[in-house]
Amino acid sequence: MDYWSRSVDELIDAMKSNGLRRGYIVTDPGTHQVRASHPVFDSVAKAIAADTRDYRRHEGSFFEIGPESDHLLSAHVHWTKRGQAAGGVRYWLYDTVEGFVRDGLRLSRGMGQKNALAGLWWGGGKGVVARRKGRNHTDPSVRRAVYRDYGRFMTSLRGCYITAEDAGTTPDDMAVLFSMTRHTTCIPESLGGSGNPSILTATGVVVAMEAALDHLGKGTLEGKTVVMQGLGNVASYMVGDLLSRKVKRIVGAEIDEAMLDRVKKKYPNAPLEARLVGREDTSIFSEPGDVFAPNAVGAVLNPATIPMIRTAIVCGAANNQLADPQRDAKALHQRNVLYVPDFLANRMGIVNAANEQYGMFDGDPTIYAHLDKSTPWGIYKRAMEIFARAKTSGRTPAEEASDLADELSQELHPIWGHRGQQIIHHLVKSGWERREALT
Ligand code: NAD
Repeated sequence: MDYWSRSVDELIDAMKSNGLRRGYIVTDPGTHQVRASHPVFDSVAKAIAADTRDYRRHEGSFFEIGPESDHLLSAHVHWTKRGQAAGGVRYWLYDTVEGFVRDGLRLSRGMGQKNALAGLWWGGGKGVVARRKGRNHTDPSVRRAVYRDYGRFMTSLRGCYITAEDAGTTPDDMAVLFSMTRHTTCIPESLGGSGNPSILTATGVVVAMEAALDHLGKGTLEGKTVVMQGLGNVASYMVGDLLSRKVKRIVGAEIDEAMLDRVKKKYPNAPLEARLVGREDTSIFSEPGDVFAPNAVGAVLNPATIPMIRTAIVCGAANNQLADPQRDAKALHQRNVLYVPDFLANRMGIVNAANEQYGMFDGDPTIYAHLDKSTPWGIYKRAMEIFARAKTSGRTPAEEASDLADELSQELHPIWGHRGQQIIHHLVKSGWERREALT
């Protein structure tokens, strides 16, 4: 049976009828062959092996039916030469196994690239949990079961992947998850975590805007107009950063009235024009200005919106802004719009959380170095390096950033070497998939 195009529920049923609670798909580090733990996963392994868009020799993908929640949990490990895989866990609704697995592959690679460009000693990872149709994912008892299961799942994976918060996961969920495993970051401040990263993320994006303006010889942000889609957490701090840099005007579109009112109240006398729009309203893309900042959701840069853009720079906080990374980066390039790759500009979320087990204090120089314009791996210098490479090669900054990230991903962790791969090897050899799920 080909489960790639089937629903996640059908895969769960097939696992159960074969007496399975767990399964994996791994890439042999020597032969690069993709191998499944059981024939039920063969069709998925075959589809992954044939894929050239989202699969890039990922070291492994692990699956488990949570014993308490009956949800399909997954963890995707891209490359771990720089360190154990790190990235958040997403709790989302997927129509097919393909959508579910592709999200894990694409996002874990994205995290690996973000971490490598940031000079972090972490590899790329992502967790994905499929919401179940007919179950209320906002019900606290459902969520508690899901995140308890996910914590146990992390424990069973022995740290080849270290999880964190992502879309669909809340700080309360992270507290539940943390009660079951040590293999997580991004836990609430009250439990010893690093807290809300949005302030730093906002400043990081603004530093990336400054690099883009410098590259184009357009001076500083003073007197400029910045256009934003989304006025949520990151954007509201970004407004403050931009005002302190004396921008002339900020125009923002937001779908949530409460968020809109919040940002207006926060900056009552600012040159901020905040508009309430409908979810499908894309009129903000045609607003004239100097920088357009997608600060809402992913895939907003696409063939419908790119021709509307009237700024020389696109630089924002949202993850995966390009609906199709290659096609849409090229379309922006052809329109002479300088696109700052999102995984370069919005790194501060992971920078803030990734190393929280090493302790934290206000003004931590290892964190603030990323915002300093003289740091070689900082946002500013990395952006300038990528723009310069793109200028020389004629390729897009997104392509250059991706290649540089892949190069940096090959560097071995100075102390622990390729430990993530060693852990995966151990899991496979020791029959992880045959063991009972932890309860
Ligand atoms: P958020 O949910 O607080 O803000 C997003 C805002 O966008 C919300 O207020 C939402 O109502 C609005 N929105 C959604 N669709 C819209 C549309 N079509 N038009 C206009 N507004 C719309 O999230 P956030 O924490 O501010 O993060 C913003 C983005 O940056 C997300 O994509 C997130 O994944 C990414 N990001 C955030 C961080 C961080 O530190 N918080 C780090 C890295 C990346």
